Amino acid sequence: MRTNSENKIANRVIGILVALFLTTAFSLAQSIETSPLEELKGFTQTFYYSKGHEQRARDIAQFIEHAGVYFKETVGFTPKTTLYVLAPNDWKDYAAKPLQDVYGFPHNKDDFNLVVAAEDNDFWRSFLPPVNQLPQPLAEQIRAAYGKSDGSYSMMAFFDLLGLHEMGHSYTSQAGLKMHRYWMGELFVNIMLHTYVAEKQPKLLAALEAFPNMVVGAGSSEYKYTSLKDFEALYPTLGMGPKNYGWYQCKLHSAAKDIYNSGGKDVLVKLWNALKKHQEDMSDEEFASMLEKEVHPSVANVYLEWGK
Ligand SMILES: [Zn+2]
Repeated sequence: MRTNSENKIANRVIGILVALFLTTAFSLAQSIETSPLEELKGFTQTFYYSKGHEQRARDIAQFIEHAGVYFKETVGFTPKTTLYVLAPNDWKDYAAKPLQDVYGFPHNKDDFNLVVAAEDNDFWRSFLPPVNQLPQPLAEQIRAAYGKSDGSYSMMAFFDLLGLHEMGHSYTSQAGLKMHRYWMGELFVNIMLHTYVAEKQPKLLAALEAFPNMVVGAGSSEYKYTSLKDFEALYPTLGMGPKNYGWYQCKLHSAAKDIYNSGGKDVLVKLWNALKKHQEDMSDEEFASMLEKEVHPSVANVYLEWGK
């Protein structure tokens, strides 16, 4: 027989266990019910989006899927990726560590998971100078590409294209290309993006080109770091800061435009093949020489004429 106090203890233990079970079941049910992201169905890649942003996610997904068909035909490869289109509240949960506080900074987290913003934000706006102070032709480009009906501006049309830039990193990493330099890793995916837009969606060229034209056109005096040497040294930790990094990106978007305009769509395929073949380490000079001979002089010029 058990004593009264033993019974009391047993009842108490059962009570605690029941309470624990109920709490766990409740929080599980709650987390399923309030699971923040929705999945977009019907695409070959995986897409998740924050509630309320289905149309944005769908537009980005369709752009990426169409590009996927083009790249399958040209470079003959398709990676496997998951893209997150996120509202500010979800950003911290999915963004890579150094970028958790930089809402709007698109990135490829780990070769498989890509993160982009669903809403306009301060980071995008930080690049926009007073438009009426820009030189006239540039001001017109900016108005045409990013002007809204209420007279304000949004860079969304540019940043939405960058989901494909981020996916480009999954192409190169999953296909086993050796990028040799960080600047090439970024230039390459900008060439992918520019080539696809110019070849298949030329109406989007204005949105793709106006933002880098504006940032590069404003000069580099407000940026502490501008050399490729600094870019290589600071890239792994984003040591130059998000805005200075954005300037480098704009330079590399401009370079991708120049490369496409001088060498056409074949440069992308030649560069893909060269970076797949050349797995050996190369000095800067050897790398530039290979690019000039085996790919196109305009690609070597990014290194040779940087800052000139
Ligand atoms: Zn990138």
